[in-house]
Amino acid sequence: MSKTHFDPYFNDEFHDAPEKTSCGTVGFWDGDCDENRYQTTSVWDNVTCKKCLKQKNKLQKDFEYDEAQIVKQMGEFVDYCDNLTQDNEGEE
Ligand SMILES: [Zn+2]
Repeated sequence: MSKTHFDPYFNDEFHDAPEKTSCGTVGFWDGDCDENRYQTTSVWDNVTCKKCLKQKNKLQKDFEYDEAQIVKQMGEFVDYCDNLTQDNEGEE
């Protein structure tokens, strides 16, 4: 049976299993053989990969850090757009 790895984005719509799992295991797509595909889940209770479980704290932290970065970048982008709007208004 294939292992289940941690994937925080598993619940995303249209999300396919990543080529590489959080723990660094590279998935291989051997034709249409589904048995070779690993499973991913965003629920830690369902994770069976020992590597993932061992790095649980780190992976969870990484994920939270990524999320924070995305929120931060979005905020900066909004600021950037606000500045552009203000510049344009100043020229008129
Ligand atoms: Zn894993």
